[in-house]
Amino acid sequence: MSCRLSVIVPVYNERGNLELLLPSLQSVLRASGEEYEIIFIDDGSTDGSAEVLESMAAADPRIKVVQFRRNFGQTAALSAGFDIAAGEFVVTLDADLQNDPEDIPAVLAGMRQGFDVVSCWRRDRKDAWLTRILPSKAANLLISWIGGVRLHDYGCTLKGYRAEVLRHMQLYGEMHRFIPIYASWAGARVTEIAVKHHPRRHGSSKYGLGRTHRVLLDLITVKLLSSYSTKPMYFFGGAGLLACAAGVFFAGWTLFDKFFNGIKAHRNPLLLLAVFLFLLGVQFILMGFVAEIMIRIYYESRNKTPYLVRRTWNIPEPEALRQNRANDRNP
Ligand code: UDP
Ligand code: MG
Repeated sequence: MSCRLSVIVPVYNERGNLELLLPSLQSVLRASGEEYEIIFIDDGSTDGSAEVLESMAAADPRIKVVQFRRNFGQTAALSAGFDIAAGEFVVTLDADLQNDPEDIPAVLAGMRQGFDVVSCWRRDRKDAWLTRILPSKAANLLISWIGGVRLHDYGCTLKGYRAEVLRHMQLYGEMHRFIPIYASWAGARVTEIAVKHHPRRHGSSKYGLGRTHRVLLDLITVKLLSSYSTKPMYFFGGAGLLACAAGVFFAGWTLFDKFFNGIKAHRNPLLLLAVFLFLLGVQFILMGFVAEIMIRIYYESRNKTPYLVRRTWNIPEPEALRQNRANDRNP
């Protein structure tokens, strides 16, 4: 069945919300005039959400359901949705009605204007201030700064993507929130619109403060991947050379102390520092080398190219690119 719009909804213990969500989603989608499908990913719910989804799917072939064997997390649920989405446009939203389906047309309008990613900003967010809004504000500032894409709200699940920007993405951990960054690195045009946000009425939030450190660690990974994934030696080797140089400097200092200040080298703590820094530097350089080898295996074994091509003129597609595309379709 052809469809232009795929709506992806991750579901983890949301039984009370599903029956409210579906009709409002359907009426918005019908009004949008697009051919659509709704993909629910049941992320190992234990509250009977799966049974509700099953009966919904039985009533309407446009409702597709994937049930995970256990809880794999929201990122995994979303990527399963991306893998099966048939639409040209992909919209993701939460199952708990905190995102408002009424905002979907604005997201679609953004994509029709030519944006590849339309991210949403819960300007008036209805969550606990201290444990959710404050850490999220800090995280958004940091992510914007490091990722180089200025958005107010990375964490909002309601987002729209042109399907092609999702094709090259493998998501791990909490990384679905970084998709706008990945996409913009791959040349996508990203925009942000303000949307409504509602307090949760049924069920409970699956997250608390505990997620913050995971997001931070993922951010470090993303930064390292972006800057050094094709040349890890520049990162590790640079740090290694610096540490070695510092080691040599302190070794020289120790010698200076020995000859001019009469401090015996084995009594000088600087010697310890010199040895430590030098060994650390050597370790870093070796680590860079190991990473270089791994990067080669990564790109060469999967026939991945270190670049992405939008289109070509008068050039038959090279084998490597064709392979690359085939891999994207069957990750
Ligand atoms: N969710 C999921 N797997 C999880 C945790 C959450 O699929 O392990 C879904 C959840 O059902 C909801 C969405 O992800 O549809 C956002 O979760 P939640 O509302 O708990 O997060 P919050 O809005 O509090 O950030
Ligand atoms: Mg929520």
